[in-house]
Amino acid sequence: MATKKVKEQTRNILKEVFGYDSFRPMQEEIICTLLDGKDAFVLMPTGGGKSICYQIPAMMREGTGIVVSPLISLMKDQVDALTACDVKAAYYNSSLKAAEAKDVLDRFERGDLDLLYVAPERLLSKGFLAKLEHIPLAMFAIDEAHCVSQWGHDFRPEYVRLGELREIFPDVPMLALTATADEHTREDISDRLKLTKAKRFVASFDRPNIRYLVAEKRQPLTQILQFLEGWPNCSGVIYCLSRKRVEDLAVNLQRHGISAAAYHAGIPGRSREKVQDDFLRDRVKVIVATIAFGMGVDKPNVRFVIHHDLPKSIVSYYQETGRAGRDGLESEALMLYGSGDVNLVRRLIENVENIDQRRVEVHKLNSMVAFSEALTCRRRVLLGYFGEPLDESCGNCDICLDPPETYDATEFAQVVLQCIRELNGHFGMGYIVDVLRGSKNARIMEHKHDQLKTHGTGADMNADEWTSILRQLVHHGYFIQDVSKRAAMLATKKADFIDSGPPVMLAKYQPGIRRHFKRLGVPRDEALFKKLVKLRQELADKEDVPPYVVFSDVTLTEMSQRKPVSEDTMRSISGLGVHKLEKYSAVFSALIQKHVNSNDGKNAKSGGKNIPMLIAKGSGINETQTYILSLYRKGISLEDIAAQQGVSEATVLKHYVAIIRAGQFIDVPAFIGDDFDTLMTELDDADPYASLSEIKRELSVDLSNDEFRLILTWREAIGVA
Ligand code: ADP
Ligand code: ZN
Repeated sequence: MATKKVKEQTRNILKEVFGYDSFRPMQEEIICTLLDGKDAFVLMPTGGGKSICYQIPAMMREGTGIVVSPLISLMKDQVDALTACDVKAAYYNSSLKAAEAKDVLDRFERGDLDLLYVAPERLLSKGFLAKLEHIPLAMFAIDEAHCVSQWGHDFRPEYVRLGELREIFPDVPMLALTATADEHTREDISDRLKLTKAKRFVASFDRPNIRYLVAEKRQPLTQILQFLEGWPNCSGVIYCLSRKRVEDLAVNLQRHGISAAAYHAGIPGRSREKVQDDFLRDRVKVIVATIAFGMGVDKPNVRFVIHHDLPKSIVSYYQETGRAGRDGLESEALMLYGSGDVNLVRRLIENVENIDQRRVEVHKLNSMVAFSEALTCRRRVLLGYFGEPLDESCGNCDICLDPPETYDATEFAQVVLQCIRELNGHFGMGYIVDVLRGSKNARIMEHKHDQLKTHGTGADMNADEWTSILRQLVHHGYFIQDVSKRAAMLATKKADFIDSGPPVMLAKYQPGIRRHFKRLGVPRDEALFKKLVKLRQELADKEDVPPYVVFSDVTLTEMSQRKPVSEDTMRSISGLGVHKLEKYSAVFSALIQKHVNSNDGKNAKSGGKNIPMLIAKGSGINETQTYILSLYRKGISLEDIAAQQGVSEATVLKHYVAIIRAGQFIDVPAFIGDDFDTLMTELDDADPYASLSEIKRELSVDLSNDEFRLILTWREAIGVA
């Protein structure tokens, strides 16, 4: 068992090398398992912090840690990031020139490397394996371990032989890591890598910082442009189903002044690499891509992922949206959902010959449709699909933030039923809408359907409203769209109960994207943040690395909130290890100092919208506080929270203080109300040498001690105190 001293050592490395104060859930246990010489199998979502789990033990154990990674570009990024923290790391793959490769091998043999990233086929070559027998090895880490499984979404034949490692090197601990959420693949991985005895670590697959939004697809370009306004100058990915759509959308976005580029498998290798590189280096902000894009892009600051078209399955949706917000900052996943897409996929599925496969495809599609049309918390549906229950609603999806209003739609359902009966089940949704709205288009006239009883009965509602009603009625099982008859609408048994059964409750049609612009988050000084980003870009370009290798957005966000000018405060900023502190703290604090003295700095508003929030993952707040925060986010008042918890309001306020300290958002100005600005001015002007109780006494507003502490904490959090 790892001793107390060993644990202390791991924490020192975390702080000094990587600049982080505390481990994320499971990281420490995983590290200790490896330090004990045992195997581990780690299932953690993207952004969970898997890399550190093998990097730290590789540094602490004698010998070199061998990391197997499927993609050359990923190896380079990881090694760049480690080198930036002064860790001895290198990669060995086909991209190296002969002299470079020799140099890496020399270092490896000399014992000058803590980590060596290797491509699987290289590792398993006879020559390399023979070499390994004579070099001390700290451990093997198999990254993206799902590549070993044919069940997985990214099978790589080169991975299959990795199972041999466990037998050839019985004494070297082995760690497999993956973000795959599906159980089938997990079992297969552990069998194939012969890790059946390894200790398993399964983290929650929830990505709390990703907000899930689904909107009816109507005018996708306009909808996307509108959405992008909420994320100016931010990086994001837009997925489309076909190459043609990718190219069209990229051109259209460029025409609207968006820094966008297209990416799909039909683009020649060189140009594709350039697009990817420009994206990593923040030179291109928005990538419009087919699903060919993503694997091998570990960019931490992707702020949004948009699905222009229906994803293939829930698993793909989770995977693709998961590329947002790896750094833990607030991010959004928007899906445009159109019945046209669903019908297209249905038609494609009809052509699948193999019955079993067709069933699988139908199931995948149905789950995707159910997710999209659900009127309950998206996160609950999503995690539920992976067998992870979510007890309360998440408070961070379109449904939770803006619960759909329902109404009694029985009369509409009756009209639809009547119309479908009149049409004898031969017509699709679009046609029915036309009939209800009283259209006299050629097709309707040809069939003399202008003489139907229901023709024109729904003329007072527009086509979108009717479509929404029809779709929901299908979703609720009153009607089906018969795929074998070009999606003609048919009534089901349930439709017989429209008249006599319970009222048909539907969600009110809402045009536009349901979306709250009210962002949770500790406000940051936007003007300063921009300046910091610019400085980071300059330094990164000079060093020829992606900007996030210099500092993550989390680090810059924290700097723009806390405005560190001394080295001591700088040291307490997340992501600043000893090496980066030495290298960058002077330039960054000089910039911050200059900003603080400038007009921008003085005018910096603490409030403000559209600010990403810092999610302090698993740190700082206890269970009660997490619960209180969730109540708070649902808009429950202080009084009610206190009553519900059976404690005094003062106690709840104390919890609020802890929550703010942990980097979470409580809207203190709203809480204090009209007096807030007055109080802030009075505090700004307060005698710097007075004691807190003296200051409190001088205020024009009477505050309880806890309220006072809350305000002070808020000021500290936004960096004015
Ligand atoms: P994964 O490989 O699981 O997708 P990474 O290892 O890339 O995740 O980590 C995601 C981000 O979280 C990185 O920016 C990383 O530096 C950061 N991170 C990892 N562990 C910690 C920690 N203990 N404290 C703060 N940040 C962390
Ligand atoms: Zn939700």
